[in-house]
Amino acid sequence: MKRNRYLVVLVLAAAIVATIALLPSKEAEQEDGRKWFKGNTHTHSLWSDGNDFPEMIVGWYQDQGYDFLALSDHNVLSRGERWMSVAQVEKRRKDKGTGTMAKYLEEFGEDWVERRGEVGKEEVRLKTLEEIRPKFEAPGEFLLIEAEEITDRYRNSPVHINAINLDEVIAPQHGDSLVETIRNNLQAVNEQAERLGRPILAHLNHPNFHWAISPQELAEVVEDQFFEVYNGHPGINHLGDGDRPSDEEIWDLANTLRIMVHDAPPLFGVATDDSHNYHGGDVSPGRGWVMVRAEELEAGSLIEAMERGDFYASSGVVLEEVSYDRRKRTHLVRMPAAEGVEYETRFVGTRRGTPDKPGEIFATVIGLEASYRLEGDELYVRAVVTSSVVHPNPSYKDQREQAWTQPVGWRK
Ligand SMILES: [Zn+2]
Ligand SMILES: [Zn+2]
Repeated sequence: MKRNRYLVVLVLAAAIVATIALLPSKEAEQEDGRKWFKGNTHTHSLWSDGNDFPEMIVGWYQDQGYDFLALSDHNVLSRGERWMSVAQVEKRRKDKGTGTMAKYLEEFGEDWVERRGEVGKEEVRLKTLEEIRPKFEAPGEFLLIEAEEITDRYRNSPVHINAINLDEVIAPQHGDSLVETIRNNLQAVNEQAERLGRPILAHLNHPNFHWAISPQELAEVVEDQFFEVYNGHPGINHLGDGDRPSDEEIWDLANTLRIMVHDAPPLFGVATDDSHNYHGGDVSPGRGWVMVRAEELEAGSLIEAMERGDFYASSGVVLEEVSYDRRKRTHLVRMPAAEGVEYETRFVGTRRGTPDKPGEIFATVIGLEASYRLEGDELYVRAVVTSSVVHPNPSYKDQREQAWTQPVGWRK
């Protein structure tokens, strides 16, 4: 009898193990419920140094099929009463033309646009985020996320950090070194997130702007989880120069140091527009964005997805599939077929044995599908897909459309 009971337990245990093995993993279950959402997390308007009205900008992104947008002006939230002289509005144009007000009036009408003052000294009121939300937002369709570009500096080096989904403005925190300046600002973001009980995502912007932030410094601030691997502003030295690394090289250098020296996770890369200029000349909206695989179009859900690395950065290439199979240790990307378009995928990373060769190209694949199986000595691997399509609105010479996946294979 005793022996029989023992057998029953064994059979039951075996059945349970078999059932668990047959059930889809929690990850796979979640993946079914996830959708891709396109968004830009770095946008300027007249509230700081951008040259168009926030609702004109939001309308453009919505028309282009974006799912979410973060307006991220320098050290200010779009709140409270703010008037601006119409002359000042027109002066912001880079093409020396006029017509910003005329376009605004044409789009939104006299009833919406608020002006005061006599002719020649006219002022216009900038609408707050809360005022414009109802014009654009719809559940599951389009989302506006409140944000700020915390704009600080250490000596001559700009330290700009975007805080996404905050609820109170964060003043630049300063610091006694560059690393401390970054750290103090990130701490202020975390402090607000904890105090208000809301997720706030911070990404460090354009490290090569004024050649401000080195890979070593970026590696050292292990609290930072995200940085801009691509930013559509033409003045941010995306490609580096002969002596200084490009944004992508910075990524590999910093990630190698993080894993080998700081025992910390690698950085995730975002692409953004950093759009300031919306009329004439160099206009940057549409150049850089993130594709986030989240459960729903809601700030918390998007941030959670980005924190687990379930997103990629793009300057034009859209992926049909991106995955990392942990069991097979294989990273895969698939691109949609399009007439006359070819893709080159490079799998990039660093080997444990050769940390002096960060950002080595492990494999190059031409075609609509590319995969890489880790051999075992990689600290991480990431994919960068480059299209044969010349960028229709490049931020640097000979730019091709690209997509960057997040580092994989580094989790122990
Ligand atoms: Zn900036
Ligand atoms: Zn900016």
